[in-house]
Amino acid sequence: MHLDIVTMSAADIAVTAVLASMLLLNWGRDGWSLAAAPRFVGAWGLAVLVRGIGGLAMLGSVLGGSADGIAIGASLVILSSALKWNATRRFAERPALPFLIALGPAGFLAVVYSGLVPNLDGRFIAGCLFLAAYSFVAALELRRMSDASQCWPAIALLVLCGATYLVWIPFAVVSPLGSVSTAFSSDWLAYVVVTTLLLRVALAFLVLSLAKDRDEEEQRRYALTDSLTGLPNRRSLFESAELVVQRRVLGGGTPVSVLICDLDCFKDTNDTFGHTLGDDVLRLFARVATRSLQVNHEFARLGGEEFAAILPSVDGEIALEEAERLRDAFEQAGAFVNGLPVGATVSIGVSADREVDPGLSTLFRRADAALYAAKRAGRNRVVFIGSNDDDAMTKSRTTVRTSPSRLRPKRSWKPHRPVQTF
Ligand code: GH3
Ligand code: MG
Ligand code: MG
Repeated sequence: MHLDIVTMSAADIAVTAVLASMLLLNWGRDGWSLAAAPRFVGAWGLAVLVRGIGGLAMLGSVLGGSADGIAIGASLVILSSALKWNATRRFAERPALPFLIALGPAGFLAVVYSGLVPNLDGRFIAGCLFLAAYSFVAALELRRMSDASQCWPAIALLVLCGATYLVWIPFAVVSPLGSVSTAFSSDWLAYVVVTTLLLRVALAFLVLSLAKDRDEEEQRRYALTDSLTGLPNRRSLFESAELVVQRRVLGGGTPVSVLICDLDCFKDTNDTFGHTLGDDVLRLFARVATRSLQVNHEFARLGGEEFAAILPSVDGEIALEEAERLRDAFEQAGAFVNGLPVGATVSIGVSADREVDPGLSTLFRRADAALYAAKRAGRNRVVFIGSNDDDAMTKSRTTVRTSPSRLRPKRSWKPHRPVQTF
Protein backbone atom coordinates (compact mmCIF):
# COMPACT_ATOMS: atom_id res chain seq x y z
CA MET A 1 0.00 0.00 0.00
CA HIS A 2 1.41 3.36 -0.96
CA LEU A 3 0.80 6.14 1.53
CA ASP A 4 0.98 9.75 0.45
CA ILE A 5 3.69 11.47 2.50
CA VAL A 6 2.13 14.94 2.32
CA THR A 7 -1.29 13.70 3.47
CA MET A 8 0.30 11.61 6.21
CA SER A 9 2.41 14.54 7.42
CA ALA A 10 -0.63 16.83 7.47
CA ALA A 11 -2.57 14.20 9.46
CA ASP A 12 0.42 13.86 11.80
CA ILE A 13 0.45 17.61 12.46
CA ALA A 14 -3.32 17.70 13.08
CA VAL A 15 -3.22 14.77 15.52
CA THR A 16 -0.13 16.22 17.22
CA ALA A 17 -1.97 19.53 17.71
CA VAL A 18 -4.92 17.69 19.28
CA LEU A 19 -2.56 15.74 21.58
CA ALA A 20 -0.73 18.92 22.65
CA SER A 21 -4.04 20.69 23.35
CA MET A 22 -5.32 17.72 25.36
CA LEU A 23 -2.18 17.59 27.51
CA LEU A 24 -1.88 21.35 27.99
CA LEU A 25 -5.58 21.73 28.83
CA ASN A 26 -5.16 18.94 31.35
CA TRP A 27 -2.27 20.84 32.89
CA GLY A 28 -4.34 24.05 32.86
CA ARG A 29 -7.16 22.24 34.67
CA ASP A 30 -4.64 21.61 37.45
CA GLY A 31 -3.94 25.36 37.60
CA TRP A 32 -0.57 25.02 35.73
CA SER A 33 0.70 23.48 38.94
CA LEU A 34 4.41 22.67 39.18
CA ALA A 35 3.82 19.64 41.41
CA ALA A 36 5.40 16.51 39.93
CA ALA A 37 2.31 14.95 38.32
CA PRO A 38 0.74 18.00 36.57
CA ARG A 39 4.20 19.31 35.63
CA PHE A 40 4.91 16.00 33.87
CA VAL A 41 1.72 16.35 31.81
CA GLY A 42 2.48 20.03 31.06
CA ALA A 43 6.10 19.39 30.09
CA TRP A 44 5.03 16.53 27.82
CA GLY A 45 2.34 18.73 26.28
CA LEU A 46 4.88 21.47 25.53
CA ALA A 47 7.21 18.89 23.99
CA VAL A 48 4.37 17.61 21.79
CA LEU A 49 3.62 21.22 20.77
CA VAL A 50 7.26 21.71 19.75
CA ARG A 51 7.00 18.46 17.76
CA GLY A 52 3.94 19.81 15.97
CA ILE A 53 5.69 23.08 15.10
CA GLY A 54 8.73 21.13 13.87
CA GLY A 55 6.50 18.90 11.72
CA LEU A 56 4.73 21.96 10.28
CA ALA A 57 8.08 23.63 9.50
CA MET A 58 9.29 20.48 7.75
CA LEU A 59 6.12 20.02 5.73
CA GLY A 60 6.07 23.69 4.69
CA SER A 61 9.73 23.51 3.71
CA VAL A 62 9.27 20.29 1.74
CA LEU A 63 6.41 21.90 -0.18
CA GLY A 64 8.41 25.11 -0.64
CA GLY A 65 11.65 23.23 -1.39
CA SER A 66 13.62 24.91 1.41
CA ALA A 67 16.43 22.69 2.74
CA ASP A 68 17.11 25.14 5.60
CA GLY A 69 13.50 24.94 6.74
CA ILE A 70 13.70 21.14 6.80
CA ALA A 71 16.85 21.26 8.93
CA ILE A 72 15.27 23.69 11.40
CA GLY A 73 12.02 21.65 11.49
CA ALA A 74 14.02 18.46 12.13
CA SER A 75 16.00 20.14 14.91
CA LEU A 76 12.67 21.12 16.54
CA VAL A 77 11.54 17.49 16.32
CA ILE A 78 14.78 16.47 18.07
CA LEU A 79 14.26 19.24 20.65
CA SER A 80 10.80 17.79 21.30
CA SER A 81 12.34 14.39 22.08
CA ALA A 82 14.92 16.06 24.32
CA LEU A 83 12.11 17.86 26.20
CA LYS A 84 10.25 14.56 26.64
CA TRP A 85 13.39 12.99 28.05
CA ASN A 86 13.73 15.95 30.42
CA ALA A 87 10.06 15.57 31.44
CA THR A 88 10.62 11.92 32.41
CA ARG A 89 13.79 12.92 34.26
CA ARG A 90 11.94 15.54 36.31
CA PHE A 91 9.10 13.07 36.89
CA ALA A 92 11.72 10.69 38.30
CA GLU A 93 12.71 13.57 40.63
CA ARG A 94 16.10 14.21 39.07
CA PRO A 95 17.39 17.67 38.18
CA ALA A 96 17.06 19.04 34.67
CA LEU A 97 20.18 18.99 32.47
CA PRO A 98 19.71 21.95 30.06
CA PHE A 99 23.03 21.30 28.33
CA LEU A 100 21.93 17.82 27.28
CA ILE A 101 18.54 19.14 26.16
CA ALA A 102 20.30 21.56 23.81
CA LEU A 103 22.93 19.04 22.71
CA GLY A 104 20.63 17.05 20.38
CA PRO A 105 19.09 19.87 18.32
CA ALA A 106 22.33 21.91 18.29
CA GLY A 107 24.36 18.82 17.43
CA PHE A 108 22.01 18.03 14.54
CA LEU A 109 22.27 21.57 13.15
CA ALA A 110 26.06 21.41 13.54
CA VAL A 111 26.13 18.14 11.59
CA VAL A 112 23.98 19.67 8.83
CA TYR A 113 25.76 23.03 8.52
CA SER A 114 29.29 21.71 8.98
CA GLY A 115 28.80 19.89 5.69
CA LEU A 116 29.62 16.59 7.41
CA VAL A 117 26.56 14.95 5.85
CA PRO A 118 25.65 16.85 2.70
CA ASN A 119 22.79 14.60 1.50
CA LEU A 120 19.25 14.18 2.79
CA ASP A 121 19.71 10.50 3.73
CA GLY A 122 22.75 11.25 5.90
CA ARG A 123 20.73 13.94 7.70
CA PHE A 124 17.81 11.55 8.10
CA ILE A 125 20.14 8.97 9.71
CA ALA A 126 21.70 11.59 12.02
CA GLY A 127 18.20 12.73 13.06
CA CYS A 128 17.09 9.14 13.74
CA LEU A 129 20.17 8.54 15.90
CA PHE A 130 19.48 11.62 18.07
CA LEU A 131 15.78 10.72 18.37
CA ALA A 132 16.55 7.10 19.29
CA ALA A 133 19.12 8.21 21.89
CA TYR A 134 16.62 10.53 23.63
CA SER A 135 13.92 7.81 23.61
CA PHE A 136 16.26 5.26 25.16
CA VAL A 137 17.52 7.61 27.89
CA ALA A 138 13.91 8.61 28.68
CA ALA A 139 13.09 4.91 29.14
CA LEU A 140 16.15 4.61 31.36
CA GLU A 141 15.01 7.53 33.55
CA LEU A 142 11.68 5.81 34.21
CA ARG A 143 13.42 2.45 34.74
CA ARG A 144 15.58 3.98 37.49
CA MET A 145 12.53 5.24 39.40
CA SER A 146 11.86 3.58 42.75
CA ASP A 147 8.32 2.62 41.71
CA ALA A 148 9.32 1.62 38.17
CA SER A 149 6.77 -1.22 38.19
CA GLN A 150 3.94 1.21 37.30
CA CYS A 151 6.03 2.62 34.45
CA TRP A 152 6.64 -0.57 32.49
CA PRO A 153 4.17 0.16 29.67
CA ALA A 154 5.72 3.63 29.18
CA ILE A 155 9.25 2.20 29.36
CA ALA A 156 8.35 -0.45 26.76
CA LEU A 157 6.83 2.16 24.44
CA LEU A 158 9.83 4.47 24.74
CA VAL A 159 12.17 1.57 23.92
CA LEU A 160 9.94 0.67 21.00
CA CYS A 161 10.07 4.31 19.83
CA GLY A 162 13.87 4.30 19.99
CA ALA A 163 14.07 0.96 18.19
CA THR A 164 11.65 2.21 15.50
CA TYR A 165 13.93 5.15 14.71
CA LEU A 166 16.88 2.75 14.35
CA VAL A 167 14.89 0.35 12.18
CA TRP A 168 14.41 3.04 9.49
CA ILE A 169 18.14 3.68 9.13
CA PRO A 170 18.79 0.67 6.81
CA PHE A 171 15.89 1.86 4.61
CA ALA A 172 17.72 5.13 4.03
CA VAL A 173 20.76 3.09 2.94
CA VAL A 174 18.98 0.51 0.78
CA SER A 175 16.35 2.81 -0.72
CA PRO A 176 17.75 6.37 -0.44
CA LEU A 177 15.42 9.33 -0.32
CA GLY A 178 17.73 11.24 -2.62
CA SER A 179 16.68 14.85 -2.82
CA VAL A 180 13.79 16.75 -1.25
CA SER A 181 11.72 16.41 -4.42
CA THR A 182 12.29 12.64 -4.85
CA ALA A 183 11.60 12.04 -1.11
CA PHE A 184 7.93 12.74 -1.95
CA SER A 185 7.66 9.52 -3.90
CA SER A 186 9.56 7.43 -1.34
CA ASP A 187 7.84 4.12 -0.56
CA TRP A 188 8.65 4.04 3.11
CA LEU A 189 8.95 7.61 4.50
CA ALA A 190 5.18 7.89 5.05
CA TYR A 191 5.33 4.70 7.17
CA VAL A 192 7.90 6.40 9.39
CA VAL A 193 5.41 9.20 9.95
CA VAL A 194 2.51 6.81 10.69
CA THR A 195 4.36 4.48 13.07
CA THR A 196 5.96 7.27 15.10
CA LEU A 197 2.58 9.04 15.28
CA LEU A 198 0.86 5.94 16.66
CA LEU A 199 3.59 5.51 19.26
CA ARG A 200 3.36 9.18 20.24
CA VAL A 201 -0.41 8.98 20.70
CA ALA A 202 -0.06 5.89 22.92
CA LEU A 203 2.72 7.59 24.91
CA ALA A 204 0.64 10.72 25.51
CA PHE A 205 -2.14 8.61 27.08
CA LEU A 206 0.39 6.69 29.17
CA VAL A 207 1.80 10.00 30.42
CA LEU A 208 -1.68 11.01 31.56
CA SER A 209 -2.17 7.68 33.29
CA LEU A 210 1.25 7.83 35.01
CA ALA A 211 0.55 11.37 36.22
CA LYS A 212 -2.85 10.29 37.57
CA ASP A 213 -1.25 7.37 39.46
CA ARG A 214 1.41 9.69 40.92
CA ASP A 215 -1.22 12.23 41.90
CA GLU A 216 -3.27 9.60 43.74
CA GLU A 217 -0.17 8.28 45.44
CA GLU A 218 0.81 11.80 46.59
CA GLN A 219 -2.67 12.50 47.88
CA ARG A 220 -2.62 9.25 49.81
CA ARG A 221 0.83 10.06 51.23
CA TYR A 222 -0.41 13.54 52.12
CA ALA A 223 -3.46 12.08 53.90
CA LEU A 224 -1.25 9.76 55.94
CA THR A 225 1.51 12.23 56.87
CA ASP A 226 1.69 14.81 59.64
CA SER A 227 2.72 18.05 57.99
CA LEU A 228 4.62 19.50 60.97
CA THR A 229 6.91 16.57 61.75
CA GLY A 230 6.76 14.56 58.52
CA LEU A 231 5.85 11.50 60.60
CA PRO A 232 2.97 9.18 59.77
CA ASN A 233 -0.26 10.50 61.29
CA ARG A 234 -2.95 8.92 63.43
CA ARG A 235 -4.81 7.43 60.44
CA SER A 236 -1.59 5.89 59.15
CA LEU A 237 -0.87 4.36 62.55
CA PHE A 238 -4.27 2.70 62.67
CA GLU A 239 -3.73 1.25 59.21
CA SER A 240 -0.38 -0.10 60.45
CA ALA A 241 -2.09 -1.51 63.55
CA GLU A 242 -4.42 -3.53 61.33
CA LEU A 243 -1.45 -4.83 59.32
CA VAL A 244 0.47 -5.76 62.47
CA VAL A 245 -2.52 -7.75 63.73
CA GLN A 246 -2.93 -9.47 60.36
CA ARG A 247 0.75 -10.41 60.26
CA ARG A 248 0.51 -11.75 63.80
CA VAL A 249 -2.38 -14.01 62.77
CA LEU A 250 -0.10 -15.43 60.09
CA GLY A 251 2.98 -15.48 62.33
CA GLY A 252 1.07 -16.96 65.32
CA GLY A 253 1.03 -15.44 68.80
CA THR A 254 4.14 -13.22 68.77
CA PRO A 255 4.09 -10.34 71.27
CA VAL A 256 3.22 -6.76 70.38
CA SER A 257 3.95 -3.63 72.41
CA VAL A 258 2.51 -0.16 72.27
CA LEU A 259 4.05 3.12 73.48
CA ILE A 260 2.08 6.32 73.93
CA CYS A 261 4.21 9.42 74.50
CA ASP A 262 2.98 12.82 75.69
CA LEU A 263 5.30 15.79 76.08
CA ASP A 264 5.28 17.17 79.60
CA CYS A 265 3.80 20.58 80.42
CA PHE A 266 3.88 21.44 76.75
CA LYS A 267 1.35 24.20 77.19
CA ASP A 268 3.86 25.89 79.52
CA THR A 269 6.56 25.48 76.86
CA ASN A 270 4.35 27.28 74.37
CA ASP A 271 3.39 29.97 76.88
CA THR A 272 6.98 30.58 77.97
CA PHE A 273 8.93 30.26 74.71
CA GLY A 274 6.29 30.80 72.05
CA HIS A 275 4.39 28.56 69.67
CA THR A 276 7.18 28.50 67.06
CA LEU A 277 9.64 27.08 69.53
CA GLY A 278 6.90 24.65 70.63
CA ASP A 279 6.79 23.44 67.03
CA ASP A 280 10.58 23.01 67.06
CA VAL A 281 10.26 20.90 70.21
CA LEU A 282 7.69 18.69 68.50
CA ARG A 283 10.01 18.26 65.50
CA LEU A 284 12.90 17.54 67.84
CA PHE A 285 10.93 14.83 69.59
CA ALA A 286 10.02 13.31 66.21
CA ARG A 287 13.71 13.21 65.23
CA VAL A 288 14.91 11.83 68.54
CA ALA A 289 12.23 9.11 68.54
CA THR A 290 12.90 8.15 64.93
CA ARG A 291 16.59 7.73 65.77
CA SER A 292 15.92 5.97 69.06
CA LEU A 293 13.26 3.44 68.01
CA GLN A 294 14.03 0.52 65.73
CA VAL A 295 13.28 0.93 62.04
CA ASN A 296 10.52 -1.69 61.91
CA HIS A 297 8.54 0.12 64.58
CA GLU A 298 5.51 2.10 63.49
CA PHE A 299 5.87 5.56 65.01
CA ALA A 300 3.34 8.33 64.47
CA ARG A 301 2.10 11.66 65.75
CA LEU A 302 -1.40 11.13 67.12
CA GLY A 303 -2.07 14.87 67.32
CA GLY A 304 -0.97 17.83 69.47
CA GLU A 305 1.98 16.76 71.61
CA GLU A 306 1.00 13.09 71.63
CA PHE A 307 2.85 10.37 69.75
CA ALA A 308 2.53 6.59 69.65
CA ALA A 309 4.56 3.63 68.50
CA ILE A 310 3.62 0.04 67.71
CA LEU A 311 6.48 -2.36 68.32
CA PRO A 312 5.81 -5.63 66.46
CA SER A 313 7.41 -8.79 67.90
CA VAL A 314 8.62 -6.88 70.97
CA ASP A 315 7.71 -8.04 74.47
CA GLY A 316 7.14 -5.82 77.53
CA GLU A 317 10.73 -6.00 78.82
CA ILE A 318 12.28 -4.81 75.58
CA ALA A 319 9.52 -2.23 75.02
CA LEU A 320 10.23 -0.81 78.45
CA GLU A 321 13.94 -0.56 77.67
CA GLU A 322 13.20 1.16 74.37
CA ALA A 323 10.79 3.59 76.02
CA GLU A 324 13.31 4.44 78.71
CA ARG A 325 16.03 4.96 76.12
CA LEU A 326 13.73 7.32 74.24
CA ARG A 327 12.72 9.21 77.37
CA ASP A 328 16.36 9.65 78.32
CA ALA A 329 17.44 10.69 74.81
CA PHE A 330 14.69 13.32 74.68
CA GLU A 331 15.49 14.65 78.12
CA GLN A 332 19.05 15.22 76.98
CA ALA A 333 18.12 16.66 73.58
CA GLY A 334 15.28 18.80 75.00
CA ALA A 335 17.32 20.41 77.79
CA PHE A 336 18.24 23.24 75.43
CA VAL A 337 16.35 23.91 72.21
CA ASN A 338 17.62 26.63 69.86
CA GLY A 339 19.94 27.68 72.69
CA LEU A 340 17.06 28.21 75.14
CA PRO A 341 16.76 26.32 78.45
CA VAL A 342 13.48 24.61 77.57
CA GLY A 343 13.97 21.45 79.64
CA ALA A 344 11.47 19.49 77.54
CA THR A 345 10.64 16.00 78.77
CA VAL A 346 8.23 13.24 77.86
CA SER A 347 6.06 10.76 79.75
CA ILE A 348 5.54 7.37 78.17
CA GLY A 349 2.91 4.72 78.78
CA VAL A 350 3.81 1.19 77.68
CA SER A 351 1.73 -1.93 77.26
CA ALA A 352 2.44 -5.33 75.76
CA ASP A 353 0.61 -8.57 75.19
CA ARG A 354 0.51 -11.73 73.11
CA GLU A 355 -3.27 -11.74 72.87
CA VAL A 356 -4.29 -8.75 70.79
CA ASP A 357 -7.58 -7.67 69.30
CA PRO A 358 -8.21 -6.03 65.92
CA GLY A 359 -6.81 -2.51 65.89
CA LEU A 360 -4.83 -3.29 69.07
CA SER A 361 -7.53 -1.33 70.93
CA THR A 362 -6.95 -2.96 74.33
CA LEU A 363 -3.20 -2.40 74.12
CA PHE A 364 -3.72 1.27 73.26
CA ARG A 365 -6.17 1.64 76.14
CA ARG A 366 -3.69 0.13 78.58
CA ALA A 367 -0.81 2.23 77.26
CA ASP A 368 -2.99 5.30 77.68
CA ALA A 369 -3.80 4.31 81.25
CA ALA A 370 -0.07 3.81 81.85
CA LEU A 371 0.61 7.27 80.45
CA TYR A 372 -2.01 8.72 82.76
CA ALA A 373 -0.23 7.00 85.64
CA ALA A 374 3.11 8.42 84.52
CA LYS A 375 1.65 11.93 84.52
CA ARG A 376 0.10 11.49 87.94
CA ALA A 377 3.35 10.13 89.33
CA GLY A 378 5.21 13.31 88.35
CA ARG A 379 5.94 13.17 84.57
CA ASN A 380 9.24 12.51 82.77
CA ARG A 381 8.95 8.79 83.35
CA VAL A 382 7.93 5.52 81.76
CA VAL A 383 5.13 3.39 83.19
CA PHE A 384 4.32 -0.12 82.05
CA ILE A 385 0.94 -1.69 82.50
CA GLY A 386 0.32 -5.38 82.14
CA SER A 387 -2.81 -7.24 81.21
CA ASN A 388 -5.10 -5.80 83.89
CA ASP A 389 -6.00 -2.31 82.84
CA ASP A 390 -8.36 -1.54 85.71
CA ASP A 391 -5.76 0.09 87.89
CA ALA A 392 -2.75 1.50 86.16
CA MET A 393 -0.90 2.51 89.29
CA THR A 394 -0.95 -0.86 90.98
CA LYS A 395 0.40 -2.44 87.84
CA SER A 396 3.01 0.25 87.23
CA ARG A 397 6.33 -1.46 87.33
CA THR A 398 8.57 1.24 86.15
CA THR A 399 9.39 4.33 88.04
CA VAL A 400 12.27 5.39 85.90
CA ARG A 401 12.94 9.03 86.51
CA THR A 402 15.69 11.54 86.34
CA SER A 403 16.58 14.55 88.41
CA PRO A 404 13.36 15.76 90.02
CA SER A 405 14.62 19.34 89.73
CA ARG A 406 13.92 19.13 85.99
CA LEU A 407 10.27 18.42 86.57
CA ARG A 408 7.84 21.23 86.11
CA PRO A 409 5.24 22.19 88.72
CA LYS A 410 2.76 19.37 88.84
CA ARG A 411 -0.46 20.09 87.06
CA SER A 412 -3.19 17.53 86.94
CA TRP A 413 -3.10 15.69 83.65
CA LYS A 414 -6.12 15.91 81.40
CA PRO A 415 -5.80 13.55 78.45
CA HIS A 416 -6.96 14.91 75.06
CA ARG A 417 -8.99 11.77 74.67
CA PRO A 418 -10.85 11.13 77.95
CA VAL A 419 -11.92 7.70 76.73
CA GLN A 420 -9.64 5.89 74.31
CA THR A 421 -11.50 4.71 71.25
CA PHE A 422 -8.72 3.16 69.20
P1 GH3 B 1 0.81 17.48 80.49
O1 GH3 B 1 2.18 17.43 81.02
O2 GH3 B 1 -0.21 17.16 81.50
O3 GH3 B 1 0.66 16.69 79.25
O4 GH3 B 1 0.54 18.98 80.13
P2 GH3 B 1 0.55 19.66 78.71
O5 GH3 B 1 0.70 21.13 78.91
O6 GH3 B 1 1.55 19.02 77.86
O7 GH3 B 1 -0.86 19.26 78.14
P3 GH3 B 1 -2.04 20.14 77.65
O8 GH3 B 1 -3.02 19.17 77.04
O9 GH3 B 1 -2.57 21.02 78.74
O10 GH3 B 1 -1.44 21.06 76.54
C1 GH3 B 1 -1.05 20.60 75.29
C2 GH3 B 1 -0.65 21.79 74.50
O11 GH3 B 1 -0.09 21.42 73.26
C3 GH3 B 1 -1.80 22.70 74.21
C4 GH3 B 1 -1.65 23.08 72.76
O12 GH3 B 1 -1.63 24.48 72.58
C5 GH3 B 1 -0.29 22.54 72.41
N1 GH3 B 1 -0.21 22.09 71.03
C6 GH3 B 1 -0.99 21.20 70.40
N2 GH3 B 1 -0.59 21.04 69.10
C7 GH3 B 1 0.45 21.90 68.93
C8 GH3 B 1 1.28 22.20 67.82
O13 GH3 B 1 1.15 21.67 66.71
N3 GH3 B 1 2.28 23.12 68.00
C9 GH3 B 1 2.45 23.73 69.21
N4 GH3 B 1 3.45 24.61 69.31
N5 GH3 B 1 1.68 23.48 70.28
C10 GH3 B 1 0.70 22.56 70.13
MG1 MG C 1 -1.57 15.73 75.66
MG1 MG D 1 1.37 16.97 77.39
